[in-house]
Amino acid sequence: MRRLRRCKILATLGPASADKATISALHDAGADLFRINMSHADHDGMRERIAMIREIEKDSGRPIGILVDLQGPKLRIGVFHEGAVMLRKGDAFTLDADPTPGDAHRVNLPHPEILEALAPGHVVLIDDGKVRLHIVEATPTSARAIVDVAGRISNRKGVSLPNTEIPVSAMTPKDRSDLEAGLNAGVDWVAVSFVQRPEDVAEVKKIARGRALVMAKIEKPQAISRLAEIIELSDALMVARGDLGVEMPLEKVPGLQKRITRMTRRAGKPVVVATQMLESMIQSPVPTRAEVSDVATAVFEGADAVMLSAESAAGQYPVEAVTTMNRIAEEVETDSVYRAVISAQRADAPDPGGADAIAVAARDMAETLDLKAVCAWTASGSTAFRIARERPQPPILALTPNRDTARRLALVWGVHAIVTKDASDIDDMARRASKFSNREGFSQEGDRIIIVAGVPFGTPGATNMIRIGFCGAES
Ligand code: PEP
Repeated sequence: MRRLRRCKILATLGPASADKATISALHDAGADLFRINMSHADHDGMRERIAMIREIEKDSGRPIGILVDLQGPKLRIGVFHEGAVMLRKGDAFTLDADPTPGDAHRVNLPHPEILEALAPGHVVLIDDGKVRLHIVEATPTSARAIVDVAGRISNRKGVSLPNTEIPVSAMTPKDRSDLEAGLNAGVDWVAVSFVQRPEDVAEVKKIARGRALVMAKIEKPQAISRLAEIIELSDALMVARGDLGVEMPLEKVPGLQKRITRMTRRAGKPVVVATQMLESMIQSPVPTRAEVSDVATAVFEGADAVMLSAESAAGQYPVEAVTTMNRIAEEVETDSVYRAVISAQRADAPDPGGADAIAVAARDMAETLDLKAVCAWTASGSTAFRIARERPQPPILALTPNRDTARRLALVWGVHAIVTKDASDIDDMARRASKFSNREGFSQEGDRIIIVAGVPFGTPGATNMIRIGFCGAES
């Protein structure tokens, strides 16, 4: 199975996509990776989903990436007897320490330190700011509020406190336990929520010890002011527009999306644009014009991946949402202005070495000679990351002996990864690159491809060879 687009699709799993048949349909429709959101999953649920994805991977023969998204110090309300309640303007509503299910008058806020910090006048935003309350009375275990902006709130919706000082650390005990469970279950990527400082990312990388790559979610103003340092320490970034748009004025989000995407692309690291991309498809089989334009903008910006949240996790049309995203990305990438926009955003690598120079040369040669694919032999994936950074016109075929590398590369722009044993010599390297390129439908007999590798074979980080390969009949 070969995708006809470079931008990847990351689909969040949830109750609407809990069974193998639906997850398989999402994969067939275009999902390259799946996200398990630990705000809504327990360890058994996570392991069950991972097992199903690995079965689908086996059935389809394609590596599939799995991202576990740690909840982080995200504040959430508890649950309701009825699953949800409607709050009307002027209603009184209490947040308290009582863990029993709530109703239209009260709900649990399971964060004692926050209840202690709340004071009259403080603003409470629920569900990405859709519902707004202000506190009128507070004790250390309960805060009575009045509803200013009405709306429906349901189980475990997020809470933001724009004018409350809260002493929270980057990783909660739940995050540590979820991270360990995710690493033991063999996830490929871990997303860190509410990153404020580079140290927040460093802490997770220290625990992960290379067992998974680490993605920083950018959703707080503090992270924006230290973006360059955070990019340097992270393996990838996510523009987490949901919380970013709650914590910062909404009208700043589009500009920040562009800034984060460009800076991350320049560093040669994957960047994901997330949240509300096809929001109306939670309830409707067709998106709005504005949503189509939003997905298209991210694809034009050269994002490595676009993400679906509730659309695929809890919506009525999960498969249609992936199909729609796939169609938009395919269409954008064949638009006549796409190449011009993508190329205009290319920038030199910040601190280029020999491997970066080879990646630039591979792109130039492939485009000058109209070659059909750029094939990279890569153990760690770093050669494929470097080539993807150049956003070449032809697809990138990554050949790796390492299954984990192939799965991680599912996130990376334009990369189609194949697991195969390492090449034994230069002829074997060229012959098998051509064979895979033909087999996967990138080239045919008589076509030419670019091959990039490091010799001696099997030496990580030794990208030092570039060659034009001919795709023969015997390939
Ligand atoms: C976001 O806030 O945009 C996001 C992706 O995070 P979460 O879905 O965990 O709230």
